[in-house]
Amino acid sequence: MKKEDIPQDDGALNKLTREIVYATDSTGNYTTELSTGWDVKAKALDVKALVLPESTNDVAITLKICNDYKQAVVPQGGLSNVVNSATANAQEIAISLERMNAIQQVDNINQFVEVEAGVILENLHEKVRQSGFIFPLDLGAKGSCMIGGNIATNAGGLQALRYGVMRNLVLGLEVVLPDGSILNNLNPVLKNNTGYDLKHLFIGSEGTLGIITRAILKLNPEPAFFSTAFIALEIFENSRELLNRAKIFFGDKLTSFEILWPAFYRLLTNENSGNKKVMPDNYPLYVLTEIASSNAAIQSQMERFLETAFNDNIIVDAVFAQRQEDRKQFWQIREKIDHILVQHNPVFTFDVSLPISEMGQYVSTVDTELKQNFDTVYNYVFGHMGDGNLHLMINCGEENIDAKELVEKIVYAPLQSIYSSVSAEHGIGLTKKKWLFFSKSAEEISLMRSIKNLLDPNNIMNPGKIF
Ligand SMILES: Cc1cc2nc3c(=O)[nH]c(=O)nc-3n(C[C@H](O)[C@H](O)[C@H](O)COP(=O)(O)OP(=O)(O)OC[C@H]3O[C@@H](n4cnc5c(N)ncnc54)[C@H](O)[C@@H]3O)c2cc1C
Repeated sequence: MKKEDIPQDDGALNKLTREIVYATDSTGNYTTELSTGWDVKAKALDVKALVLPESTNDVAITLKICNDYKQAVVPQGGLSNVVNSATANAQEIAISLERMNAIQQVDNINQFVEVEAGVILENLHEKVRQSGFIFPLDLGAKGSCMIGGNIATNAGGLQALRYGVMRNLVLGLEVVLPDGSILNNLNPVLKNNTGYDLKHLFIGSEGTLGIITRAILKLNPEPAFFSTAFIALEIFENSRELLNRAKIFFGDKLTSFEILWPAFYRLLTNENSGNKKVMPDNYPLYVLTEIASSNAAIQSQMERFLETAFNDNIIVDAVFAQRQEDRKQFWQIREKIDHILVQHNPVFTFDVSLPISEMGQYVSTVDTELKQNFDTVYNYVFGHMGDGNLHLMINCGEENIDAKELVEKIVYAPLQSIYSSVSAEHGIGLTKKKWLFFSKSAEEISLMRSIKNLLDPNNIMNPGKIF
């Protein structure tokens, strides 16, 4: 098909398609699969179009055209976010990075890897393991989420206690700005004190400032040995004591310290869950913890540690993963949270940050308030206790907006008087916009808006998200 054969209309997509052809195909030939290999589809979904770029240059051309037409775009990775941050509507063009999925050679000496933004997290795990490394970001959605999405949400996950969140794992970035210019910040050096560190603007920006196309990521040597334990406790205060002791005893070998309230453990090990009960389900509280090291002695260290905790009445029961299969089973209990969504509908999902010292009181306040306001209450609480991050998944038998708002108020109200955040790791998206002021001051929000206006004066990048 020739450029002039494209049907004429005034629609923005048609104009955009013609411009892309013009910009990328000097012969004027148009096929759905364009000369650069990238694809523009009017999608059957509720979006104006889906663009599937194959290179940074494709992204740059797309954004330049969209900016000229003031056409809103929504960057998309693996679509695993839970706050509607990658949702696009019929007036918006979705740009999926899924075809930009190359992993470059692992740099063994300098311990980094360069990747395109569309690499699926689990594929990166497998690739770097072949060179004896780990990329330590690990989360339940690893089979579908992509590095660009992980960076844009500043993802946390199961090993943040030891290795930090995505912000701590990114050395350099390449970003296409809304006007189509390419910001090359792909510098892998650890120390670079040359003014503002611009990559941090884009980490956690939820696609509102530009499209991340490439990243240089920090690697860590793969630990040869793991010791994983499922532990039962009588009271919350003892889990705080256990965490403190674990930090001192294991130092940087401690990779995870996850807490599970009993309703969560019971549901995730019930007969329909596909999980095995690794200990009785009538204890008041559970902890799943893991240490990792290159030294085989860690198994006996874990045993010694728990024996002391048992003798000091800190814990009441514990089981160890004897084989890799046990370790997998333990983690499945923590990670298979979609089972909650199978059992209940609707489920309101929260990920809050708060001081570890406040967690026990916080959970019982929320529980009490929920029970005072609803006849039916299922409150599944679990999370990355070591990072001060709890997840709450709540069903109160009602689906309407009023019920949702009331649950949100109940969950967020106790956070206002303590150091806290309404989002520890999932971001704001559309879902939490109206609660942003709980965790950011008016001055902070105003500066965030100024930065957005400066980089994206036409407000084409993921408009309406965060603010
Ligand atoms: C079962 C399950 C477990 C989870 N566990 C965790 C957890 O432990 N920790 C955690 O932090 N999160 C967790 N999440 C949430 C989610 O997986 C993360 O937020 C993840 O980082 C999103 O990545 P994605 O590729 O799916 O991004 P998407 O959902 O596609 O997009 C998320 C945001 O990033 C933007 N974006 C995507 N790609 C780009 C790009 N290339 N450039 C600019 N912006 C972009 C989008 O516009 C959107 O704002 C979990 C989700 C599920 C379903």
